Amino acid sequence: MLFQPRSIRHCKACGAAVRYVVPADDNRERAVCSACGLVHYENPLNVVGTVPVWGDQVLLCRRNIEPRYGLWTLPAGFLELGETTADGAIRETVEEAGAHIELEGLYTLLNVVRVGQVHLFYRARLLDTVFAPGPESIEVQLFDEASVPWQTLAFRTVRETLLHYFADRRRGRFEVHAADIS
Ligand SMILES: [Zn+2]
Repeated sequence: MLFQPRSIRHCKACGAAVRYVVPADDNRERAVCSACGLVHYENPLNVVGTVPVWGDQVLLCRRNIEPRYGLWTLPAGFLELGETTADGAIRETVEEAGAHIELEGLYTLLNVVRVGQVHLFYRARLLDTVFAPGPESIEVQLFDEASVPWQTLAFRTVRETLLHYFADRRRGRFEVHAADIS
């Protein structure tokens, strides 16, 4: 099923009500202003994050916010305007985990069409073990593969990324993984 949030109610230019219709020369429904005619385009959002590594351990954050309050995640969040995906991944890691990292390259690219998102995770090297939960995290902790809280991970994309990480680690070779999450 196509992702059709139909979340827009009012025109962002004039505030009048919008209607979802297929504009001329288009092929899908858009929110079109009933007064000024502005067409509002909605596109997938990018979520960017990291796999922060210290020795054989990865750093996870326990979410202090909805959705998935109390579950564990890799540090990640929505890319902001004006930043690159790498900048955003570093910023989220600082904000959520208070961690000092150096990026080591793109690792996973995961399409989550159902919710209109693309998730990008970078591998990252922790520069030290000084970290602390930011406002969006309850706690931040290092886990080796056996101790990862696999049953209480917040998102499929985090699970996929961690599974790839530990598998690649065993093989001794890391490559970029692209996949679609249903
Ligand atoms: Zn309008």
